[in-house]
Amino acid sequence: MVTKELIPMPKSRFVKVVCPKCKNEQIIYNKAATVVKCLVCGNVLAEPTGGKAKIHAKIVKVLS
Ligand SMILES: [Zn+2]
Repeated sequence: MVTKELIPMPKSRFVKVVCPKCKNEQIIYNKAATVVKCLVCGNVLAEPTGGKAKIHAKIVKVLS
């Protein structure tokens, strides 16, 4: 019998964001432990807060 796996805590995941400055699309980890910068312009897209990263860019897609 196949049962659905129970997820005890919200899973960390990757999100696709758009840089607010240069519109570059980039996939970032939403539990990033370090500051994530845009690969094109260097704008900070996410910064660690101890748990979930604070994301400064617009999230366009959540990748499961
Ligand atoms: Zn950028």
